[in-house]
Amino acid sequence: LSKTYPNGVRALVDLDLRVERGEIFGYLGPNGAGKSTTIRLLLDLICPTAGQAAIAGLDTRARDVEARRRVGYLPGDLRLSDRLSGREQLDSLGRLRGGVDHATRDALVERFDCVLDRPIRELSKGNRQKLGVVQAFMHRPEVLILDEPTGGLDPLNQGEFRKLIRETADDGRTVFLSSHSLDEVQHTAVRVGVIRAGRLVDVDSVESLRERSPRHVTIRFGEHVDPAAFEALLGVQVLESDHDVVRLAAPEPAMDGIVKAAARHRVVDLVSEPADLEEIFLALYRDDDGRD
Ligand code: ADP
Repeated sequence: LSKTYPNGVRALVDLDLRVERGEIFGYLGPNGAGKSTTIRLLLDLICPTAGQAAIAGLDTRARDVEARRRVGYLPGDLRLSDRLSGREQLDSLGRLRGGVDHATRDALVERFDCVLDRPIRELSKGNRQKLGVVQAFMHRPEVLILDEPTGGLDPLNQGEFRKLIRETADDGRTVFLSSHSLDEVQHTAVRVGVIRAGRLVDVDSVESLRERSPRHVTIRFGEHVDPAAFEALLGVQVLESDHDVVRLAAPEPAMDGIVKAAARHRVVDLVSEPADLEEIFLALYRDDDGRD
């Protein structure tokens, strides 16, 4: 599947990808990589320059209406009717789409504690996003296409949302989860495709990608600590060191050594999180396309 925009930008080049029924697939790439272009092609909002796509076996162009009916979509740039209340928005979309199961919808509304009685323009980003989630799931679609879905959700709702994604997959339905952050997909996705500059550069298990990817570890000590002890560890890079704080970049297999080196001192706090995608790309794919 390929897409070149009229201005000549090759946003997607020869994508060859198959996502299985009941799978949670993470589609990972930095901004501008071609994720939204892929999704717009899947939803038949734009025409491919070459190639084809199918959803549940239905060609997205030749059988667009049937294919689209099977999809629940949460856009990255969610647009809702500001003048309507949440309830009116859900009702209006439900009528337009048909096939909404009211019990499913009401359960979702309750689960995410949605605000339905106020005009949407008065709602916070998180409360709008929750309406987007209900919209995407309320007709129990076979395929969920979710673009950066946890943006704006607070940690409690993020947890609930991840549960919903897992239940959906357990139910034999398929989730396509697009994001620029490994953190957003690593809790749910089993397999991940990595896209960069319009090309799929890797498809791997999220576990393997995580193991290979650098993490950022910030440790705050109760005393001054010499970073040399960390620098000496295999695969560990000291990003910053300031009296009682060290910031490291290291892949998962180095974590054990880091914790043991840290344990020789009094530890006040320790935070470990995935590096951002750009850095992961630099670490993992530097030589793959000769771009860097
Ligand atoms: P992502 O969703 O991964 O951030 P996009 O699919 O939005 O990436 O964009 C991929 C590339 O295509 C970018 O270089 C972007 O500037 C370009 N692009 C996106 N939409 C259009 C468009 N309508 N016309 C021209 N270029 C576009």
